[in-house]
Amino acid sequence: MIINVIGGGLAGSEAAIYLAKNGIEVNLYEARPKLQTGAHVSSDFAELVCSNSLGSFDPENASGLLKHEALLMGSTLFKIALENKVPSGGSLSVDRVKFHQDVTELIKSYPNIKIINEEYTEINLETPTIIASGPLTSKTLSQNITHLFGEENFSFYDAIAPIVKKDSIDFSSAFYASRWDKGDADYINCPLNKEEYENFYNILINAERIECKSFEAKFFESCLPIEVLASRGIDTLRFGPMKPVGLFDKRIPTEFKRNQFYAVIQLRQDNKIADLYNLVGFQTNLKWGEQKRLLQSVSALKNCEIARYGVMHANTFINSPKILNKTLQSKKYPNLFFAGQLTGVEGYSESITTGLFAAINILKYLNSEKMIELSDKSMLGALLSYITYPEHKNFQPINSNWGIINKEELPKKISKDKKQKNKFLSDMAINYIKSMGFNNENHN
Ligand SMILES: Cc1cc2nc3c(=O)[nH]c(=O)nc-3n(C[C@H](O)[C@H](O)[C@H](O)COP(=O)(O)OP(=O)(O)OC[C@H]3O[C@@H](n4cnc5c(N)ncnc54)[C@H](O)[C@@H]3O)c2cc1C
Repeated sequence: MIINVIGGGLAGSEAAIYLAKNGIEVNLYEARPKLQTGAHVSSDFAELVCSNSLGSFDPENASGLLKHEALLMGSTLFKIALENKVPSGGSLSVDRVKFHQDVTELIKSYPNIKIINEEYTEINLETPTIIASGPLTSKTLSQNITHLFGEENFSFYDAIAPIVKKDSIDFSSAFYASRWDKGDADYINCPLNKEEYENFYNILINAERIECKSFEAKFFESCLPIEVLASRGIDTLRFGPMKPVGLFDKRIPTEFKRNQFYAVIQLRQDNKIADLYNLVGFQTNLKWGEQKRLLQSVSALKNCEIARYGVMHANTFINSPKILNKTLQSKKYPNLFFAGQLTGVEGYSESITTGLFAAINILKYLNSEKMIELSDKSMLGALLSYITYPEHKNFQPINSNWGIINKEELPKKISKDKKQKNKFLSDMAINYIKSMGFNNENHN
């Protein structure tokens, strides 16, 4: 039995090691050093392309919890990270060179991993394969994935609008409605009067932006950042994403048939349990502090908590809600699995953990065993539920965060106490992962 693993980055290395440990023959394709990505600098496996921090290791932090779940499930990369830890408070930061050297040595030590330093181009649908070629997947492979799944199911770009927590929105001015009352009142609307809008506009056009790398500077016209739209004129937003027509707050008697407000920010439900809402058409490249200042200048959002800030950068990812099952297997081509940032998770830890999960499931698939689907009571399960949630209107990548985890069992009395709440959710997740038979307490 041979499995192809495409990409020797974080997800691919974790997957290849798991499979090799389980006696599987692995063909590990890695395009570097012949073909570089533009971000990696070595030819080693599992290179950390930017920060040397894998984020928090505290199980009561969302990213920390994900690591603890992955360790219970048998993660090798987190174990190597712990062995190469450098002091950084509650975070798991590593000596980056030692980390990728150790991963590389380990991969090379497995006789059943065949390293193929070539760009993988043609997708072989006959051989079980995990594609983990990352956010900078090579052009030819990207084209071939597009060919298999359709252009509409492949993105080269993150264009993320901020996501806010619903319970931080002030509903004395915000209201539910859909435009012209069509369908259900699904949107949360935050109205602005003329004075508020002008203030908002002035903050926006003067706000500091994150500098774009040249390859990121070309925005799609249909997906422009709000600051770029705003620079075209003071009213551009009022005729675009902040258009007020047909939005009425039924609590306010009105004589106008068309506009009740000068401008409106609309928010759309972002997760199944409806505690997160994204700002419609508000993709932005402003610095995070500026995003907060801008949103909090609007009365309905004056205390808003931002669960995820807007970003715009180059990032290759597939439309997982259409393409993948919660097992990370392709719905259309059963021999194909995906892992890592390419699936629409974001971050080192998320990439490693999905690499492990894809490997666990492809092995079960090969052995004709039932594959695992995790409940969103765990952080990994919540991530997988999010990226495969079929109702996404504009799927954008996500990292681990408390907003996506299932809170049905959370006792009301501790729901406002952040510390107690995180402890409860973390214990629930760890117990759930253990109950699924993952009990690798010694991390070996
Ligand atoms: C510039 C940049 C900076 C980032 N910084 C951070 C950060 O600081 N913290 C964080 O948490 N996340 C960061 N990320 C996001 C993400 O966590 C990392 O990109 C992470 O490495 C993704 O893991 P992966 O396994 O999906 O992909 P990678 O680790 O990128 O691995 C993919 C591998 O596939 C190879 N490959 C590509 N195409 C082919 C092909 N056709 N054939 C064979 N091999 C191929 C690549 O050479 C690469 O080695 C960053 C992303 C980028 C692009």
